[in-house]
Amino acid sequence: MIDALNHLPRPRAGADQLAEAFSDLAPPLTARQAAVESARCLYCYDAPCVNACPSEIDIPSFIHRISDENLQGAAERILSANILGGSCARVCPTEILCQQACVRNNAQECAPVLIGQLQRYALDHADFTEHPFQRSPASGKRIAVVGAGPAGLSCAHRLAMHGHDVVIFEAREKAGGLNEYGIARYKLVDDYAQREVEFLLGIGGIEIRHGQRLGGNLSLAELHGQYDAVFLGLGLGAVRQLGLADEDAPGLLAATDYIRELRQADDLAQLPLADRCLVLGAGNTAIDMAVQMSRLGARDVNLVYRRGEADMGATGHEQEIAKHNQVRLHTWARPDAVLLDDAGRVRGMRFARTQLIDGRLGDTGETFELAADAIFKAIGQRFDEQGLGDPLAAQLARDGERIQVDAHMRTSIPGIYAGGDCTALGQDLTVQAVQHGKLAAEAIHAQLMLNVEAA
Ligand SMILES: Cc1cc2nc3c(=O)[nH]c(=O)nc-3n(C[C@H](O)[C@H](O)[C@H](O)COP(=O)(O)OP(=O)(O)OC[C@H]3O[C@@H](n4cnc5c(N)ncnc54)[C@H](O)[C@@H]3O)c2cc1C
Ligand code: SF4
Repeated sequence: MIDALNHLPRPRAGADQLAEAFSDLAPPLTARQAAVESARCLYCYDAPCVNACPSEIDIPSFIHRISDENLQGAAERILSANILGGSCARVCPTEILCQQACVRNNAQECAPVLIGQLQRYALDHADFTEHPFQRSPASGKRIAVVGAGPAGLSCAHRLAMHGHDVVIFEAREKAGGLNEYGIARYKLVDDYAQREVEFLLGIGGIEIRHGQRLGGNLSLAELHGQYDAVFLGLGLGAVRQLGLADEDAPGLLAATDYIRELRQADDLAQLPLADRCLVLGAGNTAIDMAVQMSRLGARDVNLVYRRGEADMGATGHEQEIAKHNQVRLHTWARPDAVLLDDAGRVRGMRFARTQLIDGRLGDTGETFELAADAIFKAIGQRFDEQGLGDPLAAQLARDGERIQVDAHMRTSIPGIYAGGDCTALGQDLTVQAVQHGKLAAEAIHAQLMLNVEAA
């Protein structure tokens, strides 16, 4: 996929330097730090941090256990609500979720309780000799899950706990979804995504079949006919287009394509390096792309956004990370034309300056150019229509381009459920996808048991 950049040089830094640049962004707490931090929790009644956690983890309860040096108990508390609590502890934007809501998050207290770091501490130090959850007696029911991302994995685990057998159909070689292929490399280090998948599968009763693509070698009608229920956790597999001429020129590609290669690379020194690069967008994917290119050794990394700083999708914390990594931000500018060199490769981009006119975004009439060896599009993900190409799938009601679901993750077709980024419910976050998967599993279980009673 990144063949489009093959003409570019490789990083100048050696393997050790690159490994250091991509090491853990937020190093784990020491035992002393965890003891001090857990003692700061006030164990609030009706705790606002819990209300702010999309996966409803009982935060004061697990922090209390850490304070009592019961790490096993703390870990079980977290995992009972969120089986991917380990990756969520590393990737959750806690600054806009639990930690923002923490009562200690005020000027007098200086900082909220470090809930994410404590969650990681508990899960890293719990020592499970066997999987912490037991399966209920076998129900004889089989459920198909499409997509082994956070939503699909969470759904599968909860269904397996209830005694059902689950087959996960996954298009890619590895399970984990964007935990494996999308999250910035310095947020999930040491193959954490795969280690977490292995842990989750330890419950038993879950089979993953790779190379199985819904809308390709798999149809929804087939799954619907063969299984007692179907869960769709397809994510958002397509990338938004700029709509400009020469968008496919060598040197211009989707940020997610480059990040996928970077995440899978055994040797970072072999990746193409865009010494002068432009990243288009202002969400977390744009920041991740810009920061990772900067850490690979790029000298001039520019993030360009069509609106102002206040409208950026990336959290304040992510924006700070960008600043610390020498990423330059240009606001109020939209892509106007791709500039090519004589060989037809990207040499830069022309931008039109923008402004708000009666609340609507318009051009000022002024343009400017920025030179670049590569341009990365991070202007949003789209639902991949190919996944729902077969006649039954085409009947699923939509919410915009995404799959419509109710509060129990039921789609418009009985027996078919969906969750995670492919639905419009909630935010596009790992923790949200985990919660959707869990809710869908509970709804599927309730429906199947109702059917058994009625029979
Ligand atoms: C670059 C990037 C960085 C991000 N960083 C963060 C972050 O730091 N923190 C955070 O909370 N969130 C982050 N997110 C968002 C988060 O990764 C997603 O919200 C989350 O992964 C959604 O989980 P999901 O299971 O719905 O989808 P995905 O993780 O996308 O998983 C979908 C799975 O379905 C498979 N699949 C898709 N189509 C088919 C098909 N037709 N047939 C079979 N299988 C199929 C895919 O291969 C994949 O394994 C980031 C997203 C991106 C793009
Ligand atoms: S809001 Fe803060 S202090 Fe209160 S229970 Fe949650 S983490 Fe502890």
